[in-house]
Amino acid sequence: MNSDKANPSEPPRLRGGYTFNSAGTFLIALITALCVLTACNGPTRHPAEGGPVPENKPAPEKPKEPEKPKEPEKPKWTKRVVITTGVHGNEPSGYLVQEQLKELGFCVFGPCNPWGIKHNKRELEDGRDLNRFFQDDTIPQVKAVHDFLKANPPDLLLDLHEDPTKPTGPYLIQNGPKDKLAEEIIAALTEYEWAKEPAWGPVKGKDGIIKPTATVLAWQKYANVFSLGAYAYFTFNVTTITVEVPGDWPEDKRKQYQLKVCQKARDIFEARQKK
Ligand SMILES: [Zn+2]
Repeated sequence: MNSDKANPSEPPRLRGGYTFNSAGTFLIALITALCVLTACNGPTRHPAEGGPVPENKPAPEKPKEPEKPKEPEKPKWTKRVVITTGVHGNEPSGYLVQEQLKELGFCVFGPCNPWGIKHNKRELEDGRDLNRFFQDDTIPQVKAVHDFLKANPPDLLLDLHEDPTKPTGPYLIQNGPKDKLAEEIIAALTEYEWAKEPAWGPVKGKDGIIKPTATVLAWQKYANVFSLGAYAYFTFNVTTITVEVPGDWPEDKRKQYQLKVCQKARDIFEARQKK
């Protein structure tokens, strides 16, 4: 037997006296530091948007001395904007742009209701409306969303929907009564004629915005009926917006709207952090 053969129980030894373990540990530490700064544990921020550039370089074979850790690149944004799609399977425009949203660096989960998307149905296969049960993680589709959000805690959450009841225009339902984010998005997207008097059940809105008051939110909590937006609002204490677009708009127009609202929301959210 060749006595020079490496003992498989020992880490492979690099020439120059450095073990794979020490070089490996350093690389793992560097990669971990970069990962922490990405948008999402899973889909990562696009390099073009300031995310980390993947390195394929092999480790140097003969390091003269251990490299000093590089300062990780400061990400363009430090807060995580999470987008969810396809809670209602017959409202597909958010789901249809989710790959584009990932490429734009958003942290995206969807479709939340894959069966509904496949069959163009609002409800789950058992007939329940998923968006009334986000408190109940015995429902696998709910648990999947909970798990994703716990792994990627949002600083802002946008849940993309459509309104099939032919509203007069698009609108936003915002949980986070004091935040002016919805107003700022609407003021910035002047190309849309926002619904003048949108309504979400008994909760009435105005000029494109429905903003449940603290009382309505408290009632929702008491009744234990949670939309995804309400669940994320209560669990992570962040502003959440349910983005609604008229379901009778042409598909391209609906998709463009979803993309524009997400990008504008992030622009405004990011600009706040620089102040
Ligand atoms: Zn919906």
